[in-house]
Amino acid sequence: MSPELANLIQRAQELNDDFELTAVRAWKEAGAGRKAIGHMPIYVPRELIHAAGMLPVGIVGAGERLEIIRGDAYFQSYICHIPRSTIELALSRRLDVLDGMLFPSICDVIRNLSGMWTMLFPERYVRYVDLPQNFEPATGGVYWRRELETLRADLARLSGRPIEDDALRHSIAVYNENRSTICELYRARSRQPWIYPTSEVYVLLRAANVLPPEDHTALLRQYLRLAPLETDRRDRDQSRVVLVGTFCEQPPLGLLLTLERAGCWVVDDDLLLGLRWIMGDISCDGDPLQALVEAFLTRSVETAARYLPEGKHGGALVDSVRRNRAEGVIFCAPSFCDPALLEQPMLVAALDREGIPHTQFKYSEDTGQFAVIREQAGTFSDSIRLWSQA
Ligand code: SF4
Repeated sequence: MSPELANLIQRAQELNDDFELTAVRAWKEAGAGRKAIGHMPIYVPRELIHAAGMLPVGIVGAGERLEIIRGDAYFQSYICHIPRSTIELALSRRLDVLDGMLFPSICDVIRNLSGMWTMLFPERYVRYVDLPQNFEPATGGVYWRRELETLRADLARLSGRPIEDDALRHSIAVYNENRSTICELYRARSRQPWIYPTSEVYVLLRAANVLPPEDHTALLRQYLRLAPLETDRRDRDQSRVVLVGTFCEQPPLGLLLTLERAGCWVVDDDLLLGLRWIMGDISCDGDPLQALVEAFLTRSVETAARYLPEGKHGGALVDSVRRNRAEGVIFCAPSFCDPALLEQPMLVAALDREGIPHTQFKYSEDTGQFAVIREQAGTFSDSIRLWSQA
C-alpha cells in the first residue's frame, strides 16, 4: 500500500479510536466560542447544527476497547451494547467536550438514554428528536417543521446568534456534497469491491463522526483518488453480498475484515446509515427549513427505523440486491436490537419471494471472537458460488 493511502487510512482510524474526542477539542479551541453537539446514530438534521456554527459529532459507543464499569448498572442485561458504552463514556467525562446531545427516536433504548442524560447532565442541552413516522405533508410535515423550528431556536440560543436562512442553505449544500461523495464511493465499491474494500471504506466513512463535513468530503475524495492507484488489488472469486442491520450499534472492524477474508465482498450496507439518510440532494433554493422537511418526507431511506406501510418492507433491499448485482444478503444485527430484528422476518420473506439467498448472525460492538462468523460467512459464500455455477 502506498504511504499516502496508508497514512490516510491510519488518520481516519485514529479519529475513530479516539474516545477522548481530541479532534473535537482541537476544533473547538481553534475558534472563540465554538460549540459541539453530539448525536446518536441514524438521522438528525446536522445541517442545522452546522448552520449554527457548531460541530455535529456522531456518537457510536465505544466498540470493544472500553471496559464497561458503571454503564451496566444503568441498563438491564437483555438490551444492546451501545447505550452501556455511551453512558460509560459520559460518566468517565470523555464526552464533556460536547455542549449538547441529540437523541433521535430510533427505539426505546435511545429514548431511555435521553432521559438518563437529562438527569445526569442537567446543565447541558439535551433533546429527544422525535422523528415523524407520518410522511403526509399536512400531518408529519407540519409536525416536523415545528420540531425543526424548535431545534433551530434552541441551537441559536446556545450559539448566541440566530441561524440565518443563507447560512442554512450553505450548510445544506455542504452536506449535499458530503452525501453525494459517500454515494460516489459506494457506487465505486459496488463496481470494484477489491479496490475499495469495505474494511477501508468503513474506516473512512466513520471519520465523519468527528470531522467537519467539508474535511470529511476532502478525506473521501482523497481516498477515491488513491485507492485505484494500488497495483496489487485484484478481483478474487468472492461472493457479492449486501449487509443489513448495522445502522445503529456498529460492528467491530474485525467483523468486516472477517467477512472479506471469508470470501464475501460487501457491495452495499447500512453502516452509519444516518450519514446518507436523505437520498439525493436537498434543495438549496427557497425556504431551507421547508427543504429539510420535504427531503425527510419524500426521500428518507427505507430502514427498520422508519414506518413503511404493510407489504412495502423489503422492496428497497431487493432493489439494492439487483442494483449492486449482489448474490446474497447477510443479516448482521446487534444482539437485542429490536428495530433490526423485528423487521428481519419481513425482509427475509421479501428475499424468499425473489429467491435471493441469505444468512444471519448477531454481533455486539465488543464482540472479539469471529471464528464462528468466519465459518458461517465462508459457508454462505461457498454455497452461493456453488449454486451460481450449478
Ligand atoms: S442497536 Fe438497536 S436497540 Fe440498540 S439503541 Fe440502536 S436501534 Fe436501539
